[in-house]
Amino acid sequence: MSDEKLDIPEELASANLPVLLTGESKLKFRCYKGISCFNACCKAADVTLAPYDVLRLQRRLGMDSAEFLKKHTVPFQLERDGVPGIKLRTDDEGACLLLDGENGCSVYEDRPTVCRYYPVGLLAMRRKDSPVAEEKYSLVVEEHCKGHEEDREITVAEYRKEQGVEEYDEFNREWYELILKKRSGGPGVGKPNEMSLQLFFMASFNFDMFRRFVLSDNFKNTYDLPQQVYDEIEQSDEALIKFGYRLMRQVLFGEMTIPEQKDAWDRRVKERKAVWEARMQAEIAARNAKAEEAMREETLGTDCNSESCGDRD
Ligand code: SF4
Ligand code: SF4
Repeated sequence: MSDEKLDIPEELASANLPVLLTGESKLKFRCYKGISCFNACCKAADVTLAPYDVLRLQRRLGMDSAEFLKKHTVPFQLERDGVPGIKLRTDDEGACLLLDGENGCSVYEDRPTVCRYYPVGLLAMRRKDSPVAEEKYSLVVEEHCKGHEEDREITVAEYRKEQGVEEYDEFNREWYELILKKRSGGPGVGKPNEMSLQLFFMASFNFDMFRRFVLSDNFKNTYDLPQQVYDEIEQSDEALIKFGYRLMRQVLFGEMTIPEQKDAWDRRVKERKAVWEARMQAEIAARNAKAEEAMREETLGTDCNSESCGDRD
């Protein structure tokens, strides 16, 4: 075990301080239908979702992003600056809504990364002073899980393969790195504004809305991208999500890989100017109306204090 300082985003790590494992580390574990604790883990589900999890689940359930998010997720804060995340929704007792009674997971082939890894935890981390993220693992041992008592030894690498996590990690890796960078970037990275946080949520989880946003005239007038990129985004969810990672890096960290239209800034200033002017006029009108109202009240008050307002009987 290394005692080097590692910067771990705690929200991505397991609750207990982990013992770090590598791909070669061995664990004693087996899970199967019929084991005495079958489904116990899904009855106390705490499943954070990454973009590829959402894509696989919404496809599996035949839902669009908005419907999936509404029916199957709850929001939470992924990171202290308010970076938004989502978890799988559970019932009041904590059981995953995707659990199909004694049959087990109803979306097994498309279950999320956290479910695939369990009882191994994936830790995306970065050494201090290193720009490169690396992956380590931890072992989560919980009382209810009897899989640890099974007589089977397997390396973490073999377990990852068996559980089909490689494809998920491959797709989500850039997203984990974004969160890691946000958290460990220090004061230089700064607190994202409300619009960047909304973009993060949309690009990470609400793919239908993000696609409409990227294919809008407004977006195309702002960014200078070949038509081929837009075609790919239109046809492929995967291309859309990968483009989202790129846009988030640009918006959150200023990594300028998406060129802007030459006159985009001037146009934006012009558009904003019209908005600012309209807002200013509205504020002036509201101020004038308030002043007039105050004057009227004052005049009426003065009149009422004068003899003309008194009883004239
Ligand atoms: S998605 Fe499936 S495996 Fe994961 S907690 Fe829900 S029922 Fe269990
Ligand atoms: S062995 Fe562990 S992972 Fe498998 S069903 Fe039981 S509690 Fe869940």
